Amino acid sequence: MDRFDVCIAGAGVVGLAIAHRLLEAFPKASIVLTEQESDFGQHTSSRLSEVIHAGIYYASGSLKARLCVEGKVALYAFCDKYRVPYRRVGKLILSNSSCDQAITGLAHSAKSNGVDDLEYWTEDRIKIAEPAVRASHALFSPSTGILDSHQYMQTLLTLNEQRGMLYAPRTKITAVQPSGQGFCVKASINSRIKTEAYRFNAKWFINSAGLWSQQLAGKIENLPASSVPKQFLCKGEYFDYRGTNPFTHLIYPLPDPKLSGLGIHSTQDLRGQLRFGPDAEYVEEVDYRVTPDKHRAFARAIRNYFPSLEANKLVPAYAGIRPKINGPDEKPGDFIIAGPQDSGIPGLIQLFGIESPGLTASLSIGSYVSRLIGEVSL
Ligand SMILES: Cc1cc2nc3c(=O)[nH]c(=O)nc-3n(C[C@H](O)[C@H](O)[C@H](O)COP(=O)(O)OP(=O)(O)OC[C@H]3O[C@@H](n4cnc5c(N)ncnc54)[C@H](O)[C@@H]3O)c2cc1C
Repeated sequence: MDRFDVCIAGAGVVGLAIAHRLLEAFPKASIVLTEQESDFGQHTSSRLSEVIHAGIYYASGSLKARLCVEGKVALYAFCDKYRVPYRRVGKLILSNSSCDQAITGLAHSAKSNGVDDLEYWTEDRIKIAEPAVRASHALFSPSTGILDSHQYMQTLLTLNEQRGMLYAPRTKITAVQPSGQGFCVKASINSRIKTEAYRFNAKWFINSAGLWSQQLAGKIENLPASSVPKQFLCKGEYFDYRGTNPFTHLIYPLPDPKLSGLGIHSTQDLRGQLRFGPDAEYVEEVDYRVTPDKHRAFARAIRNYFPSLEANKLVPAYAGIRPKINGPDEKPGDFIIAGPQDSGIPGLIQLFGIESPGLTASLSIGSYVSRLIGEVSL
């Protein structure tokens, strides 16, 4: 039977970044990265805003805050080193005078997370920089950026393969049996013509299956159910704007604490395509269809800060789904990166609730996992 030091399940941006950091820390490690789809990054990692977040919103001391701030620095450095296209466009979080307290609160939480480059902008300053925007105050975040997330994942994959990683697309993990020195892993390889069973051994098993992490956890023998958090799916839809893009920066409303996202904001890709979203709606299943009927609700939300929006130029674009561990009325959950001590199973690492800012934090999540393994040694 084939034998690997590490098996990572899931070739989203997080699985790819974990492999990258592991190969930096343990260059001789044999790693297999399995992906159930025919290619990497087909789910949440390609259905997102492509924003490099500064680390403003997350609860102080949380993994989200720490790994976002560390990850942002690491991601910009990676993009420079390997020529992944990005732009530090900067972002404005808008407010009107009735909610000044909220914007001060955000500035405080950002500061305690180590984000110390925010600026307060007055209405006049906003008007000069963003004439199409209506707001009385704003927080400006110069370190927020956008990147080509596909190119980032492709670069991670290429580097990992150059360093000896085995990439196994169309390979779905179906069962994981802890056995003495590691795991016996069962997978099914779907080669279009036929499906074949494949069994191998791995010393470490890393569950980085995104929306399917809980389902995969259910396939790990002897795993206490209490070590697996309940999963909630929260869909976010986007609309493209076919009018002229009047914005230089990313434009965000103040997040509504009652909502599960950052509010319907403007984002743009590196070609300047303007897009609005994502909204936030708890759903029961993974279904990426966009609801054209949401057009009116989007227009209403956007007009609060972009009054001259031409609503007929909003067209349905795509949707992504957040793998949350908190329900609609609960406080936001943190990332969970559970090591062997959490499950009582040596060699097992599991990731749950890796929603935003998972792209930004991907390299620091990789370093975190690498440290968990390093403590026990590979
Ligand atoms: C609407 C939206 C907008 C977002 N915007 C941003 C943003 O602007 N900036 C930011 O930092 N973050 C953003 N995020 C968060 C970011 O997209 C995620 O945190 C990140 O993509 C998660 O990556 P992942 O690798 O954990 O999951 P995924 O990309 O879902 O990868 C998991 C992979 O595991 C595979 N898999 C599942 N089960 C198995 C199995 N049994 N065997 C083998 N493979 C399996 C799946 O096919 C999948 O490819 C956004 C998220 C959403 C939903």
